[in-house]
Amino acid sequence: MSTEHIDVVIVGAGLAGLSSAVFLGMNGVKALVVERREGTSVLPKARGANPVTMEALRTAGLAEAIHKAMPPGKPAITSVVSESLTGKVLYDHVAHRPDFSMFSPERPGMASQARAEEALLRRALELGAQVRFKTRCESLAQDGEGVELALCDLDAERTYAVRARYVIASDGIRGSIAGWLGIGTHGLGAIKSVTAVRFKADLAQWAGDNAMVIHYLQNPALPDGAGVLVSTDYKDEWVANMSADPGRDEAGMREIIKIMTGLPDLDFEIIGTVSYDYGHRIADRFRAGRVLLTGDAAHVMPPTGGQGGNTAVQDGYYLGWKLAAVIQGKAGPALLDSYEIERQPYAEEVCNWQVANLAERRRIDTLAERIGAPLDHATLLFGYVCPPNGALVPEPGAEDQRFEHPAQASGRPGARVPYVELEGVDGGKVSPRHLLGPWFMVFTAVQGGAEAARAAAGELGIELKAYPVKSTVPLHAGERQTVLVRPDGVVAWRGADNAGIGRALRTVLCR
Ligand SMILES: Cc1cc2nc3c(=O)[nH]c(=O)nc-3n(C[C@H](O)[C@H](O)[C@H](O)COP(=O)(O)OP(=O)(O)OC[C@H]3O[C@@H](n4cnc5c(N)ncnc54)[C@H](O)[C@@H]3O)c2cc1C
Repeated sequence: MSTEHIDVVIVGAGLAGLSSAVFLGMNGVKALVVERREGTSVLPKARGANPVTMEALRTAGLAEAIHKAMPPGKPAITSVVSESLTGKVLYDHVAHRPDFSMFSPERPGMASQARAEEALLRRALELGAQVRFKTRCESLAQDGEGVELALCDLDAERTYAVRARYVIASDGIRGSIAGWLGIGTHGLGAIKSVTAVRFKADLAQWAGDNAMVIHYLQNPALPDGAGVLVSTDYKDEWVANMSADPGRDEAGMREIIKIMTGLPDLDFEIIGTVSYDYGHRIADRFRAGRVLLTGDAAHVMPPTGGQGGNTAVQDGYYLGWKLAAVIQGKAGPALLDSYEIERQPYAEEVCNWQVANLAERRRIDTLAERIGAPLDHATLLFGYVCPPNGALVPEPGAEDQRFEHPAQASGRPGARVPYVELEGVDGGKVSPRHLLGPWFMVFTAVQGGAEAARAAAGELGIELKAYPVKSTVPLHAGERQTVLVRPDGVVAWRGADNAGIGRALRTVLCR
């Protein structure tokens, strides 16, 4: 039988795999996604897309779909540390959350993982991806030209070969591909075993009407003194996360749910349980040759803080334009080296942050000591600065700090282009973060800068939008009055020399 040939195969149709398919599709590459399950996930896992994820999803035309997929209720979040659902509130996370509207035009999305995956799947198909469910990747082998995958059609029990130029391994926490490639992991490993119990109960009068409700419980009557109670997509369905105990029967779980709700006479029905480990594991490499890891396949973190799903989607966003540019011959293959260099340090920090949250919310002092103090929330989300690498033009003498508070953004190469408003030469407003899309952008206050940028892009055959502005001071560009921004919203270069724009584009594209 002849071997099928395709540019990119993505293994896994979770948040990471489907978002990779969407962002590749948005950049003109139609991937094949294979998933061993029958469909997308139905389990209530991740919920909540942070503003950075929403910015990425908006570029793919998905922001409104995610907002619409919000669970029933008011578009607001309850996230507290409490003794029980009806008991004393010890800390209100939302009341202490910084005002993110200064750093991003997007508000958080509240869709659950199940609804978000459905939306991503629809969009991936619209953008031309093929998605094959009940198809398992059994093995892969690569050479200098591509990757050969053995795929098993689980219905027909037939294994067939597909040859891809690149593979994205989005095969999740239990995936095998990193292991097949000899990629090890580092981190704290398994931290805690947890049982998630789904139950049906009418808790509306105590939980309030917010679309998302999370209670991090601290109560000496609970196993290990802690637990988490989370709302789902259905007003009368909840998840109670409790420390795992193989000896605990249904009656034991029911007692714990009564303590968690603070309602000893609560009438409810248990509809399912699943056990899993809270872990902290980062892949030693995010790439082996033509195979790139995204999502939980690259970084595993406990759910405390809600960044696992967000980081998975963002991996797809930051990888999509690079891989598409390499496949389309617009960039040299070396551009892909920047994926690991840029994403791994971020993954390390976000995994540590979630563990620090776990330590604090579950009062695990030994863990807190091992992981150290977490970054503040705004810095984690908006303050990452990619390390110097081939996809940026670093400035001599620039600081080598990985994070900066977004209120003191430097706007230097590697940082997010700040959320600011510029004045166009025609007097109109120009807001770089509103203009993101699958193209480079240039904001320039230099005479002839926009024309030079467009000419350079034309020569290189890439899409670029150039905006002549009165001043680039809000971008913190100083004397360098032209700012080049990559399709992922990261500042790539700043300068005052029009001829430098073309040179910078060539550098960034590794040409
Ligand atoms: C209880 C719980 C609560 C969570 N809460 C949050 C939260 O509030 N916010 C947040 O951001 N994150 C949260 N997370 C984390 C989040 O769910 C994960 O980070 C996210 O699912 C990662 O997506 P992924 O696509 O990398 O992996 P997955 O969703 O695990 O997808 C991987 C897919 O690959 C498939 N696969 C594996 N091997 C193969 C193969 N050989 N062939 C074909 N297919 C294969 C699997 O079947 C699976 O569908 C939570 C996780 C859990 C368990």
